[in-house]
Amino acid sequence: MDLKKHIFDIPDFPSPGIIFRDITPLLQNRETFSYTVDLLAEKIKDLNPTHVVAIESRGFMFGAPLAYKLGLGFVPVRKEGKLPRESISASYDLEYGSNTLEIHTDALKPGDKVVIVDDVLATGGTMKATVELCEKLGAKVEALLFVIELLALEGREKLAGKKVISLVQY
Ligand code: 5GP
Repeated sequence: MDLKKHIFDIPDFPSPGIIFRDITPLLQNRETFSYTVDLLAEKIKDLNPTHVVAIESRGFMFGAPLAYKLGLGFVPVRKEGKLPRESISASYDLEYGSNTLEIHTDALKPGDKVVIVDDVLATGGTMKATVELCEKLGAKVEALLFVIELLALEGREKLAGKKVISLVQY
C-alpha cells in the first residue's frame, strides 16, 4: 500500500514557504489507518517494550491504537500546563521561541522499556526532548517511531545513538 497517496501536501501551511504533510486522509480511510498501525506494530514487536509514549497531539492518534494492539501501557507527553499531577518538563528551541513538553513523574520507572511515537520527524527537537523526559524517569528508550521522516531537516542526526524508524520519507 502506498501511504504517500494518503498524505496530502499542503503548501504554505501553517506559514508561507512550509509544505505541511497532512495525515488526516490516512486516518480517515479505514484500510490505510489500520495498515499504518499494523506496520508500526510490526516494526517494534520484537523489541518487547512495556509502554508506548506518544507526543501531543498527532502522536496520540498512532500511539494509542499501537499500545492497544500490542497490549502495552500508553503514556502521553503533553504540552506545558496540560497534565494535572506532578510532572517534569523539557524545553527545546524553535526557530522563534521555545516549546516545553511534560510527562507525569509516575508515568515511567527504571526497568520500563519504551518506544516513542510521533507522526512526523522534522528537525528532531520534539523527539529529543521526549527522549530526555523518558530517560530522566529511568526508562530505557528502545526505539523512536515516526510515520513520516522529512529527510532534508536531518532530524535523525539530532537523535544519534537511538534506533530511528520511519514508514515513509520525503
Ligand atoms: P521537530 O521537532 O522534529 O522539528 O517537529 C516535529 C513535530 O512537528 C511533530 O510533533 C509533528 O507533529 C510536527 N510537524 C512538523 N512538520 C509537520 C508536517 O509537515 N506535518 C505534520 N503532520 N506535522 C508536522
